[in-house]
Amino acid sequence: MAKLILKPGREKSLMRRHPWVFSGAVKQVNGNPGSGDTLEVLSAKGERLGWAAFSPQSSIRARMWAFGEEELGDMTFFLSNKMRIAIISKEKDLLNNQSLNNSMRLIHAESDGLPGLIVDRYDQWLVAQFLTAGAEKWKHEITQALAEITGLTNIYERSDADVRELEGLSPTTGVLMGAQPPETVEISENGLRFLVDIQKGHKTGFYLDQRDNRLAVQAYAKDRRVLNCFSYTGGFAVYCLAGGAAQVVSIDSSADALEMGKRNLELNHLPAEKAEWMCADVFQELRTMRDRRERFDLIVLDPPKFAPTVGQVQAAARGYKDINLLAFKLLNPGGILATFSCSGGVERALFQKIVADAALDAGVDAQIIQHLSQAPDHPIALNFPEGEYLKGLICRIS
Ligand code: SAH
Repeated sequence: MAKLILKPGREKSLMRRHPWVFSGAVKQVNGNPGSGDTLEVLSAKGERLGWAAFSPQSSIRARMWAFGEEELGDMTFFLSNKMRIAIISKEKDLLNNQSLNNSMRLIHAESDGLPGLIVDRYDQWLVAQFLTAGAEKWKHEITQALAEITGLTNIYERSDADVRELEGLSPTTGVLMGAQPPETVEISENGLRFLVDIQKGHKTGFYLDQRDNRLAVQAYAKDRRVLNCFSYTGGFAVYCLAGGAAQVVSIDSSADALEMGKRNLELNHLPAEKAEWMCADVFQELRTMRDRRERFDLIVLDPPKFAPTVGQVQAAARGYKDINLLAFKLLNPGGILATFSCSGGVERALFQKIVADAALDAGVDAQIIQHLSQAPDHPIALNFPEGEYLKGLICRIS
């Protein structure tokens, strides 16, 4: 077994069970391991700290599979055990009424103790992402274990996320087990129906992390005129119309996503005449609307990741400030802004400050009436605070 030996004093984060070993903390790697191979991790004094997967090309040089002095044992057995724990606990909470909800994240990478492995369930389909060398290495064993644990045998791979590049892995998609997926899979979320394109949609097909937040926003929709920015396939639009919104204008730069949004509305028998779909750039369209003196009673801002890493935080902050400022200006008195950031690099406190600055510059008095986070099937391990990526605020202006 290859060994990774840390520099003196660099064992501290591992003692707190943080799963990442950065290249700068590594004194030496013995035994010539290949990409994704399992390493024994030792402190400079030679104490065993645990076991990790080797990522020779990434600045996160190793990711911990297990902590402590115990042997790791058989890797297939070890992984399927961890996967079972992650899956069963979540299914128990969310899948107990499948006519209400039949789709969820089953495995949430580091926060489930399985670095680089994402598995989402869409009704009877599983979609997996193998984002690190370690996850990639055990793809076959993981696929077999998924089928065994869930009883589902249609498993599709969507390892086409950019982060794989940092690991020296190329994008890969395709059938891992079972059949080629249909063009769309129909799912239930809080009793509403959505079409998901698991082959070509964003991420694994749908933004499952916003499930509870769509419901939270719906509570403010009744009789309101809604502007749904960064709509994707109309998640917030469907919820708002189901909640009795007077009108919902949805904006997205993807025509395909908006087309799916229209179909999602139909699927839920919601009034098409109350929905408007605009294929446009949100930054530009908000300015046009401001110049036309348009007004809304509820605005949703759910942009893509502006800052995937800490390095892009400043540019991201400008982007968030810009759209939030414009949104505050477009609100009627008493209006509601539901604003999100899914940038891992932008922490909750910073996001709140950006939104506060935006309100100040827009000249509105605003209050936070709700703090939002990612849905519970996207847990945040306490030893891995980086796992908190989705932050949301519901604000009301006076
Ligand atoms: N609110 C959605 C998820 C939004 S994901 C839901 O609940 O499912 C972010 C979306 O923003 C994507 O659909 C992407 O196409 C769109 N997008 C990215 N940049 C954009 C821009 N500048 N203007 C408009 N849409 C944009």
